[in-house]
Amino acid sequence: MARYIGPVCRQCRREGMKLFLKGTRCFSPKCPIDGKRNFPPGQHGRDRKPKIVGYGLQLREKQRAKRYYGVAEVQFRNLFEKAARMKGITGDNLLGMLERRLDNVVHRAGFGVSRAMARQIVRHGHIAVNGRKVDIPSYIVRPNDVVEVREKSRQSPAITSSLEATAHLPVPAWLEVDREALKMKILGNPKREDLVQIKLDEQLIVELYSK
Ligand code: SF4
Repeated sequence: MARYIGPVCRQCRREGMKLFLKGTRCFSPKCPIDGKRNFPPGQHGRDRKPKIVGYGLQLREKQRAKRYYGVAEVQFRNLFEKAARMKGITGDNLLGMLERRLDNVVHRAGFGVSRAMARQIVRHGHIAVNGRKVDIPSYIVRPNDVVEVREKSRQSPAITSSLEATAHLPVPAWLEVDREALKMKILGNPKREDLVQIKLDEQLIVELYSK
């Protein structure tokens, strides 16, 4: 599946907000959004201040969510369709599933300093769910699942350095994380207010895909 492998800070600059794609750099003065380059990328990015309305707003919101979670268009659309078929509010269902992706959960627990690193940790077979190896980043965990770093991977430098770098970050209330044992339990479904890093208006995404 096609995945964006270009410079990720451009994505934040395009969205005009921090998407936290680069781990520790995102919390340092080197982040362009906090510094002098908080304008869209490209030759005329600094000059143009387009007024975004209607469809443009909906599109930007969808792009933000996709980029923040590192999900490709087709996968994102499939998740939306699944969310629309579920009981309850489609936007909440969509955000809930994005949050419960295995790569996101590994990142949220601090085992991967960024979602990209968490994704790689999962792909390399370092993670087990309920005692069984799972190497699919898009795997969606459920309440009461136990996610842990596998025995053979406990000394992995990627994981130990991530744990150090993420020690200051809060863990969402729907996860119970034991950083010593490199283990976590999913306590429930993520809530809207657990999205603390970025502001997303999921209703705009629903409107976009419902056209
Ligand atoms: Fe780059 Fe992170 Fe800043 Fe985004 S938040 S611009 S990824 S350093």
